[in-house]
Amino acid sequence: MTEPQRKSVAVIGTGMAGLVIAYILRNDPRGRFDVEVFEKQDKLSLDSASHTLTDEKSGEKSERLDLPMRAFADGYYESLKRMYDYLGITYGSPRFIYALSTLSNTAQQVSPYYIHSSNNHQIPPLRPNGFSWASWLVELCYLAVCYYWFTACCFFVTPKTLESSGTEESLRHYVERIRLPVYYVKNYLLPLMSSVTTCSHDALMDFPAIDLVDYERRTFRRKHYTVLGGVHRVQTKLAKGQTPRLGAKVTAVENVGTQVQVSWTDSRDGQSSSRLFDHVILGVTPDVVGTIFQPLRSAMAAVPTTTVQCIVHRDFSKIIDASRSLWTQMSLKTGESAPQPIHMCSNDHATESIHEHPSSALITTYPIAPIDPEKVVYTATFTRVLRSSASRQIVNQIFGQKRSIDEKSQLWRNGDGNVWLVGGWCWDGMVMLEGCLASATRVANALDVEVPWMKRS
Ligand SMILES: Cc1cc2nc3c(=O)[nH]c(=O)nc-3n(C[C@H](O)[C@H](O)[C@H](O)COP(=O)(O)OP(=O)(O)OC[C@H]3O[C@@H](n4cnc5c(N)ncnc54)[C@H](O)[C@@H]3O)c2cc1C
Repeated sequence: MTEPQRKSVAVIGTGMAGLVIAYILRNDPRGRFDVEVFEKQDKLSLDSASHTLTDEKSGEKSERLDLPMRAFADGYYESLKRMYDYLGITYGSPRFIYALSTLSNTAQQVSPYYIHSSNNHQIPPLRPNGFSWASWLVELCYLAVCYYWFTACCFFVTPKTLESSGTEESLRHYVERIRLPVYYVKNYLLPLMSSVTTCSHDALMDFPAIDLVDYERRTFRRKHYTVLGGVHRVQTKLAKGQTPRLGAKVTAVENVGTQVQVSWTDSRDGQSSSRLFDHVILGVTPDVVGTIFQPLRSAMAAVPTTTVQCIVHRDFSKIIDASRSLWTQMSLKTGESAPQPIHMCSNDHATESIHEHPSSALITTYPIAPIDPEKVVYTATFTRVLRSSASRQIVNQIFGQKRSIDEKSQLWRNGDGNVWLVGGWCWDGMVMLEGCLASATRVANALDVEVPWMKRS
């Protein structure tokens, strides 16, 4: 029997999606693929923004901070969890205390109006300073009614979608339709949800309602986790045995006959090169796809993105009193590790989150209020892919199963000309790690490659 001809594959990007598809193809049981990985940074990207703190006194390197934290939950992240289990990555369910407060232009310090514990480990909820028992009970009752109403709607009032009713319902229109009170939306729903989506409240209100309702349904009363020991463990396992081409910024991906040409520039010597491959898999954000792959240039312009910063710092001036008041109310049982406070501070437009890391550093994500520049230790900047009604349609067309006969639009489809897309945004859902797994699995299936963690045991 003749050996099947080996196929050459270029994977562009070493975020979670690029690393996962490269891992799957390199581990093809029939060994049919030669995989070359391109990354524009000078290191693998999944863990590239994380930071190792230096102890202020000894000057020695101490704790590793995962940036971003990359939490995941039961119910929504089934493929991710399967992969972590397969790779032997351990994860745990740390306890967080979310202290919701309002940022004012005048006050220096924030003062929480609600304190929520992750996985409801603190029942009854802590009473914030400044609330009398009576007003606190009234607030709790109001909150419970709104929360259970919203949850019931998520299960029983399905948002309108293009497929079901010919029009796409945004979160803004959905909360209006189910008559969720504005006070609850502004003070509770948006701050908590924008901690997941890390974008402005306006941008979040433009998300397709189906994304958030589906997320709520599937994570309702389910546990949330983070990787123990840091995301670098995932990166090391996925990249084992790989020799990626680092510092290689891809400038163009073009079909040439039956093959695909990748052109890149080496950031070290500025040299430009190109090479032909049988398949090319783009694991980059949609703005980059639009720049390097001409057939998707105009479609990708309709997929919104924003920039998000995570700042590691030691400027405690805003939260120190709020934190003290949290700790005085907590009664820890012996042997229990202390929960980690996350201060969610909102103005009318957005919510910043300030995570009090056990290492005693603060990590502010989506900063709004100024941070003393002298107390900033490290800053990481990310491109965050958002969702909108228009982008949901485009993504679904690209990844849709069938091309309808009367389809006039000549929109490029995933796999056309042996070019493929993977990434957190390449599925019909929230732009999260599970999207990386779902899209990598889709490409593996199309190339008839077994995904090791999807095997039935
Ligand atoms: C602040 C923040 C918090 C988040 N929190 C969570 C969370 O808690 N849970 C969760 O599930 N998800 C979270 N996410 C989302 C999740 O991190 C992303 O969806 C996921 O990491 C996307 O991975 P990716 O592989 O698709 O893309 P990316 O990680 O963006 O990787 C793209 C790669 O392509 C490389 N690249 C770009 N251009 C080129 C080029 N021209 N040539 C070569 N290489 C190139 C980049 O350097 C990078 O390596 C968060 C995101 C942000 C920004």
